[in-house]
Amino acid sequence: MNQNLLQLIELQKIDTEMQKALQSRKELPLRLVRLDADFAAVRKALEEERGLLEAKNQAHRELEEALRRGVEQLRKSRDRIHEVKSNKEYQAMLKEIETLEQKRGAVEDKIIAILEELDAMKASLAIREGEFQAVGRRYEEEREELEKRIGSIESQLQERQRAGESLRERIPKNILKRYDMTKNVNHGLAVVSAWKETCDGCHMSIPPQLYNELLEETEELMVCPNCRRIIYWYDQNKEHV
Ligand SMILES: [Zn+2]
Repeated sequence: MNQNLLQLIELQKIDTEMQKALQSRKELPLRLVRLDADFAAVRKALEEERGLLEAKNQAHRELEEALRRGVEQLRKSRDRIHEVKSNKEYQAMLKEIETLEQKRGAVEDKIIAILEELDAMKASLAIREGEFQAVGRRYEEEREELEKRIGSIESQLQERQRAGESLRERIPKNILKRYDMTKNVNHGLAVVSAWKETCDGCHMSIPPQLYNELLEETEELMVCPNCRRIIYWYDQNKEHV
């Protein structure tokens, strides 16, 4: 293949990598921010669930305390019933004990209900805690990976920049100018391969005669009649090296 074309293919490769690295430099820090925000939201949801369980535990403790007080009150009333003098007073005491017993029954019912709720909440929280451990590990791994990639972008960019500059020095000025102009109007892509009579840049078919010329090694740079990119034939059956 002609030397100019080989150098242009290499330059295009370097420039494409540059563009990708520049894109990554913009996107990766944003991905890091999103990753942190997503994880913070998961942690907040879990903390809220822990808070709900704690509030329920507190309600349970208060009910147990109410039951303890109710039982104590009942015991006192039952003790006092032996000290009453009149039948009227006795009837009043019986009524009071009955009311206290009803109250105690109601508190006991509430305790049974809250214990059931607590069991369900604890089971659900245990699952969530387990999931959170896994999410946390994945988050740490992804964060580390992203930070590593962000950290290496600058050196990648400098390396590509140097490689690109040194390559440009070896390419004739007029060809370089043509490359740059084509690149500017084609979203950064000036040199593309062609295969099976199709341009890999615009995916339009290449006229057979031009395609045949492409197969022969000419000194002339060939251009896609549709997108005007510089094209070269590349055997896609060949393994990539
Ligand atoms: Zn094309």
